[in-house]
Amino acid sequence: MTSFREPSLQAPEEQPPEDRALRPQRMAEMVGQRAVYERLEIAIDAARKRGETLGHILLDGPPGLGKTTFATCIPRELGTTLQIASGAALAAPKDLLPYLTNAAEGSVLFIDEIHRMPIAVEEFLYPAMEDFRIDITLGDGVAARTINMPLRPFTLVGATTRAGLISAPMRDRFVIREHLDYYSPEELAEIVRRSAVKLQMPMDDVSADEIARRSRGTPRLANNRLRWIRDFSTSRAERAIDVGIVRSALEMQGIDELGLDGFDRKYLETIHRVFAGGPVGIEAIAHTMSSAADTLEDDVEPFLLRCELVIRTPRGRKITPKGEDHLGAAPPSGRQNTLF
Ligand code: ADP
Repeated sequence: MTSFREPSLQAPEEQPPEDRALRPQRMAEMVGQRAVYERLEIAIDAARKRGETLGHILLDGPPGLGKTTFATCIPRELGTTLQIASGAALAAPKDLLPYLTNAAEGSVLFIDEIHRMPIAVEEFLYPAMEDFRIDITLGDGVAARTINMPLRPFTLVGATTRAGLISAPMRDRFVIREHLDYYSPEELAEIVRRSAVKLQMPMDDVSADEIARRSRGTPRLANNRLRWIRDFSTSRAERAIDVGIVRSALEMQGIDELGLDGFDRKYLETIHRVFAGGPVGIEAIAHTMSSAADTLEDDVEPFLLRCELVIRTPRGRKITPKGEDHLGAAPPSGRQNTLF
């Protein structure tokens, strides 16, 4: 699509070239998330047929499940332009101003990590979302006056890993709200097979299944594992990839049968050994691990909770018997985790 503007506002380190190479360019290339896909497709089709601006969309779910991919595909489907901003970088309303005034009619503004916008920025966005206008205050005190500035109608796509942190007034302004869930092993295996073709890696189905099984239901991790296996096989001068190579490569990275890495296991070990199985608050776990509570809550816990290796109680996190069994069965969490 010639009118599509590349997401140049995104920091380059967030978008390594290979990531872009593996990211589906059109919604039809996306694997899984069928219910979300179908609802979005209908909304996009209707907006296109009526020549109207697509309603604002909120996507939530754990990291690496395809929120950015949907957000970058939607404008392509609409034949319009895309701007990308990050909630964490929007510290004041003035930071949002260029995005709003640059937005072409019917274009898409994607705000990643939208829960990180301060309340002042959020409130500035309300009239922009609802009436496509912004209120700008000029001057101070008695001389202050507010001017109304009309905007061209646009579609806001917000992404968040923390739906619970989005305020009710903000949430209500999104017409479409979709939750992305973990992928099935079959869907992940399909993503691995497609990525292997793009990376020109000859691979059998058993190997693709093995990578899928150890990717924690997450396409981003499946692609990361695949790239590591490619490095591993290149370095060892292997000609074709088989399941033995996949296992050796992943074991070298400390990725176990369930797809947990050393950091995930360190989290389990912290609850198990340091806090005698819990219950323990997230802050205490984070301090002990020299990590941030946010990182643990966003990146580590969702999958462990889903696998029932830990549970959340009103008094804190507790390891389950299944979690204890897993620690017993898994290899040690690696040399980088010498804390224990
Ligand atoms: P999020 O924004 O939710 O953190 P991304 O959209 O950046 O996740 O997805 C991470 C990577 O996973 C993408 O670069 C893409 O390669 C891959 N990916 C995500 N969703 C899909 C999908 N449905 N089909 C194929 N690949 C996907």
